[in-house]
Amino acid sequence: MLAITSESNQKPIAKYGNSQLRYAVTYVIVTFVVLLFLNIYCSQTCQKLFYRSKQASMVERCLIAASDISDAEVLNPATVTAVMNRMGNLKVTRLIITDHTAQIIYDTEGVSTYGTYALFPEIINALNSKKVFSWDYHDGAMVSRAAVPIYSYGTLTGCIYMMEHDSEHGALIASIQRNILSITLLLEVVVILFSMFFSTRFSRRLKRILNSMHIIRGGDYSHKVSVGGRDELTLLGDEFNNLTARLQTSEGKRRQFVSDASHELKTPLASIKLLSDSILQNDMDMDTVREFVEDIGSEADRLNRMSSKLLSLSKIEASEDVEYEIVNIAPTAIRVIRMLSTIAQESNIEIIQEFSDDTPVLIMEDDLYQIIFNIVENGIKYNKPGGSLILRIKRQEEMAVMEVQDTGMGIPAESLPHLFERFYRVDKARSRRSGGSGLGLSIVESLVHKNGGNISVESTPGVGSTFTLQFPIFDTEVQDT
Ligand code: ADP
Repeated sequence: MLAITSESNQKPIAKYGNSQLRYAVTYVIVTFVVLLFLNIYCSQTCQKLFYRSKQASMVERCLIAASDISDAEVLNPATVTAVMNRMGNLKVTRLIITDHTAQIIYDTEGVSTYGTYALFPEIINALNSKKVFSWDYHDGAMVSRAAVPIYSYGTLTGCIYMMEHDSEHGALIASIQRNILSITLLLEVVVILFSMFFSTRFSRRLKRILNSMHIIRGGDYSHKVSVGGRDELTLLGDEFNNLTARLQTSEGKRRQFVSDASHELKTPLASIKLLSDSILQNDMDMDTVREFVEDIGSEADRLNRMSSKLLSLSKIEASEDVEYEIVNIAPTAIRVIRMLSTIAQESNIEIIQEFSDDTPVLIMEDDLYQIIFNIVENGIKYNKPGGSLILRIKRQEEMAVMEVQDTGMGIPAESLPHLFERFYRVDKARSRRSGGSGLGLSIVESLVHKNGGNISVESTPGVGSTFTLQFPIFDTEVQDT
């Protein structure tokens, strides 16, 4: 048993991941990283500013105090306390003054520490002749420490140490950091909402295109996609619609061609069937049978001609590699005339040649022969007995021009736009009688276009028709320079 299964290759979108989610997550991550860095940068800059201003103010106060103390001849609790009382409140949490051995001689926390050693790192560094400032921030307060050496007449006599516990500035820093964090979180939420909105919109428009593709794959070529907006996706949608419009046209042409071709092929086949049935069913004398068989033969010839013309049409459309050569039109035209002279004589038609110039063109010679043959053959076939056919070949600027003018029946104006369509015949009965298939001129048109030329026709019914062919001149001299 023969079973044919047609498998749909429609792929589920989920299998390919969700680009919408991917874009949204990417945006959110990127903005989160950027905001995090901004956050860190802002709070560090803010802390640095506080640090600098605190450092300047505390070291400055230490230096002023050290300068006042250095005036005292000896450093002892009494002299230092006197200087400190004179200076008034220095607005610090703790102030310690030591001698050069780090022994406390003044402490704002009380006399109980007097005589003990204050081995704080700031004091040790200050006793090593350095101006020191340090700070740390914990439990919402800023704790800053400064120490500077005291000199008396150039000799290091001690150091002054200040410690400040500043919860007011600490709270300010904490609130700035909190605000920056809230703004960051708010911005992140806005980014999430925006990225969700835009990615949903983007992927909805993409899905519309995808759905349209599925519809068109199903055979509905008239479907149009509407993407909306004014961006690359809109362009993509427009291009897609142009493409489907072309698909629709070519599909229409293909269907028309198939139906025309089968109709045209059916006619001689039906005649053959009718003639052969008549021979079988009737008692005929030998002469009538011969006549019928001759008719069958000519119908078979017609079929043969039609199928070979159809074949050459599809070959013209499929051929890609063409080998052009430089050909003069006149010698090819003379060959055609020689070939058709017998049928011209049969209808008593005079063929007049008017060749005025050399017309080298870049073309396939077989194509040129076929083009001239079909047009001249028509000029004879559709002429009046005793009529004439003028073949003119001339140059017009950069073009080689060939005119085939007959004195035939002419073509009505309403038929002119359809003349090059496949299977089109003006007078069907007459064309069939003369063995016409309605394919000759469509072959001519395809060949002319393939070889870079163009063709036009003018006609007056009852007077005659003129077919004009034009090809670009291939001037070797011009090409060489
Ligand atoms: P056919 O094989 O029928 O001749 P063509 O494609 O060559 O097919 O021509 C199409 C139709 O155009 C013909 O059937 C005929 O009616 C008309 N035609 C072509 N050439 C001429 C002409 N020189 N004078 C009048 N009618 C013509």
